[in-house]
Amino acid sequence: MLDKYGNDNSEYSKNIIEEIKKTSPKVAGFIEKEYSRQKNNVELIASENYCSEAVMAACGSCLSWKYAEGYPGMPIDRHSGNRGRYYGGMKYVDELEEYCCDLWREVFNTDYHVNVQPHSGSQANFAAYRAVLKPGDKVLAMSLDDGGHLTHGSSVNFSGTLYDIHFYGVDEKGYIDIEDLKKKADEIKPKLILAGASAYSRTIDFKLFSEVAKSVGAYFMVDMAHIAGLVAAGEHISPFGYADLITTTTHKTLRGPRGGMIFSTKELAKKVDSAVFPYSQGGPLEHIIAGKAVCAEEALTDEYKTYIKQVVKNSKAFCDEFKKMGYSVVTGGTDNHLFLLDLSSHEFTGKDLQDRCDEDGITLNKNCVPNEKRSPVQTSGVRIGTAPMTTRGFMEDDFIEVAHRIDEIVKKLDTEKSSQK
Ligand code: PLP
Repeated sequence: MLDKYGNDNSEYSKNIIEEIKKTSPKVAGFIEKEYSRQKNNVELIASENYCSEAVMAACGSCLSWKYAEGYPGMPIDRHSGNRGRYYGGMKYVDELEEYCCDLWREVFNTDYHVNVQPHSGSQANFAAYRAVLKPGDKVLAMSLDDGGHLTHGSSVNFSGTLYDIHFYGVDEKGYIDIEDLKKKADEIKPKLILAGASAYSRTIDFKLFSEVAKSVGAYFMVDMAHIAGLVAAGEHISPFGYADLITTTTHKTLRGPRGGMIFSTKELAKKVDSAVFPYSQGGPLEHIIAGKAVCAEEALTDEYKTYIKQVVKNSKAFCDEFKKMGYSVVTGGTDNHLFLLDLSSHEFTGKDLQDRCDEDGITLNKNCVPNEKRSPVQTSGVRIGTAPMTTRGFMEDDFIEVAHRIDEIVKKLDTEKSSQK
């Protein structure tokens, strides 16, 4: 694992690069350069993390060779009652996938149905919608500009073209506007209400959302991709028991392999499963499912819970330091692993700051802020997350130091812009 100084106490990545070099020096070269960038940079992308060598090894294992269309124990032939998948040689893969599902139910302390096959968060959302919606059905979600994800109804995404999407907003401070949510739910009568975001720093009240959904007869879906690790560790309200459908990625705060999962009530289980396979995917990635199982085992440890607590403490300390230096933070703070700096009062853009930080070995990303005046390519904000560097051992003081490094870059950009006038 990488430490905060960029030292790797494991030979794993080095060995992999050496192995690839034997066949493809070119590809090994790309990976080597990226590995070096990752070692040397301060990684503040809120959706990224460093998974363990055990997770990586599972993902690079012989399971990559196996086809496994279907589900463990799935009835294929309704007439004969035969159970199984569409391929032979499934004994161990079936055991693994069932073990993986059981583990994730344990992580979230739930008896919901779980499908661990989605290849990504977007695939998970695609299938979850498909389980309960028909093209043209009304959905009420959070817009990309206010912190939602592309798959929550953006016009350039399948979600915005397949469904009739409406958006609830955030108030002037950047908090989810519950009155707007209630009003729109009443007016629109959506078939599904979606909670969850990619750039929202506050606790989401899933109970309240579920009450609104119930009051208009809508399905309630939660996309907990960003906060799943916090939910697992008890640092965010759990959506289990409130939502009909819950999707997540496994590679953000959960610190697992790149992938997705869908949880649902038992009544929706069959619909969810057939929306994943055969509707939108073929063979599941059993090597990634092995990585998801290792990740779940890790998420059940006390060490992981301590890690998530530190992620949140670091996020608050980092955010507070910016506030002390006079920065405007969307919603004025954070309850989770990320926060947004609002740079609207500066002449430079979120993209300018992102590029300059990159040059200085700090990786973060530009982000729209509420009431954004600039284009999504430029933006007036940046999103900052603490999950990856906390994995590498950063504590509050380390983040405070980085806040001052970013502040130096901001001051330089301010000076440059004012001298250009
Ligand atoms: N949902 C949310 C809230 C996300 O933030 C993301 C990705 O950032 C996704 C879904 C999509 O995940 P993926 O990139 O794996 O498709």
